[in-house]
Amino acid sequence: MIKTIDLTKSFGDNLVLKDITTTIDQGEVVAIIGPSGSGKSTFLRCINLLEDPTGGFIWIKDKEITKPQVNKLAIRKNIGMVFQHFHLFPHMTVLENVTYAPIKVKHMKKDLAEKIAKELLAKVGLAEKVNAYPNRLSGGQKQRVAIARALAMDPEIMLFDEPTSALDPEMVKEVLDVMKDLAQTGMTMVVVTHEMNFAKEVADRIFFMDEGQIVEEGKPKDFFSKPKTKRAEDFLSKVL
Ligand code: ADP
Ligand code: MG
Repeated sequence: MIKTIDLTKSFGDNLVLKDITTTIDQGEVVAIIGPSGSGKSTFLRCINLLEDPTGGFIWIKDKEITKPQVNKLAIRKNIGMVFQHFHLFPHMTVLENVTYAPIKVKHMKKDLAEKIAKELLAKVGLAEKVNAYPNRLSGGQKQRVAIARALAMDPEIMLFDEPTSALDPEMVKEVLDVMKDLAQTGMTMVVVTHEMNFAKEVADRIFFMDEGQIVEEGKPKDFFSKPKTKRAEDFLSKVL
């Protein structure tokens, strides 16, 4: 579903991603963990071209998206992204937040967009909030709206960048539960997270990133019990 070859990104002199070559299969759930500044967000942002790679190649399915003439909007339609800080439209209701892109970008009829949005909001446990404005919601509710909004575009890939890091502790579970349900539907998911239990339980594979590289990758069971590198071992000793 996603393939990168020698993916490189620098900001000026700062080489942030160094020749990342990897493959993520359809339906796979990959958790990316690693220290702050290691390039996790930049890696995600390159996959949906929110950042332009400075070198290497990315394929989404059989399409190379690093070609210069590629239509970025068309690529992003198919890749949902959920951020730490929700990024909901504050002046729109929950329903309007979720229907906005399908109507604007996909030219979906309003009735149909609303029907789909209501189904998605029910799935994330927010059926009764359709007419609320974001400032009336808790952090966990906002993040669940953000997930429903991303799903409303019917993407084949979902990227999550620390989706629970800005939440009060009691709201983390409600968001992780929604993500877990989504994983069980077969969605291809790449999740940057500090929630090690989620990574252990839900991910098919762990990527451990450090200094712009995927230093180690493996099944959660193997990675958490027997990290192969000193760097991963040090990281785990601090977070577990
Ligand atoms: P992580 O998500 O693992 O904490 P990031 O991908 O956010 O790491 O950042 C990796 C490095 O890239 C950091 O040194 C950060 O300062 C730098 N960086 C990220 N985004 C930008 C940007 N837009 N402009 C300049 N430097 C950036
Ligand atoms: Mg980050």
